[in-house]
Amino acid sequence: MERDGRADLKSMTLPELTEYLKDLGEKPFRARQLYQWMHVKLAASVDEMTNLSREMREMLKEKAFYASLNPVDVRISQIDGTRKYLFELEDGNVIESVLMRYKHGNSVCISSQVGCRMGCRFCASTLDGLERNLRPSEMLEQIYRIQRDTGERVSNVVVMGSGEPMDNYDNLLRFIHLLTDENGLHISQRNVTVSTCGIVPRIRQFAEENLQVTLALSLHAPNDEVRKTLMPVANSFALKDVLDACHYYFEKTGRRLTFEYSLVKGVNDNLDEARALAELLKGQHGHVNLIPVNPIKERDFKQSDRKSIEEFKQYLEKRGINVTVRREMGRDIDGACGQLRKSYIEKERT
Ligand code: SAH
Repeated sequence: MERDGRADLKSMTLPELTEYLKDLGEKPFRARQLYQWMHVKLAASVDEMTNLSREMREMLKEKAFYASLNPVDVRISQIDGTRKYLFELEDGNVIESVLMRYKHGNSVCISSQVGCRMGCRFCASTLDGLERNLRPSEMLEQIYRIQRDTGERVSNVVVMGSGEPMDNYDNLLRFIHLLTDENGLHISQRNVTVSTCGIVPRIRQFAEENLQVTLALSLHAPNDEVRKTLMPVANSFALKDVLDACHYYFEKTGRRLTFEYSLVKGVNDNLDEARALAELLKGQHGHVNLIPVNPIKERDFKQSDRKSIEEFKQYLEKRGINVTVRREMGRDIDGACGQLRKSYIEKERT
């Protein structure tokens, strides 16, 4: 893995790092030390790696790229302690990551791209299109930096921030391998969730990777017609094919799926739609996560009222579907996908 012709150290596996250092005349145990500094001790810079010789550190600084993130804003929710980080990348781009504290542990929601090209109508991350993919090191660093910052172990990771992970597939895969590597932070694959808008060939490919991660599908509608009004990707893949691919993922991995359904007032929240949804999910293994849509100022979508949300939920339950309503975390701190980044960029521009 290279960046501008320099090795991207934190995106390399231990065998790759060993090979790389060997070519530079270093012994294999140096690779293990470096790997540990990066992925276990979570060093913010090469200078912190005090058991490496000064010459080796200087050489790495000169020849290699060490991904690190600069927090330019951290917002802490007064309601639930959720923390939203705005990180600056080396090239000046900014991305968001969120730390959510649950009883069962700390969960970090990371971005997989700078911006997004999927164009979902209710989402703030996609308003300015895709800027670029994030490197594996930049995805890891969001988690590492937050764990360092809080001093608390991160136990769960959700790839549910800005970007479409399946649109950055190779980097996503490498990221998962590094994150769950027993020589690194060693987060259990079962505690990693990848959320996708439904890119069928990628879901099928992902099913073949022999992983134990949870797949979440952004469904948001019970039929193609409504889905197309919310998600342009629905013009490329029919719902039937998306759900077939999800079922295939379950068959291959044994992992139950999560179906995300953002409720938008008057668009996808009536009981006919609940009925169609129950019908659609017959035979699928997983549960539905209802998300009251988080309104963004650029669009006039409104959140369904409490009563409709409750009725929608109860209807699904009656039909034997496992359903939860997602707690809105960090509502007071621009909690919705891409909102903080967007308001930061707009402020910088003026
Ligand atoms: N691209 C991936 C992951 C990022 S979006 C995907 O589509 O799944 C994470 C989830 O948040 C998706 O389900 C997305 O549809 C949803 N989402 C984005 N903006 C939202 C908003 N303003 N209100 C409610 N849900 C939103």
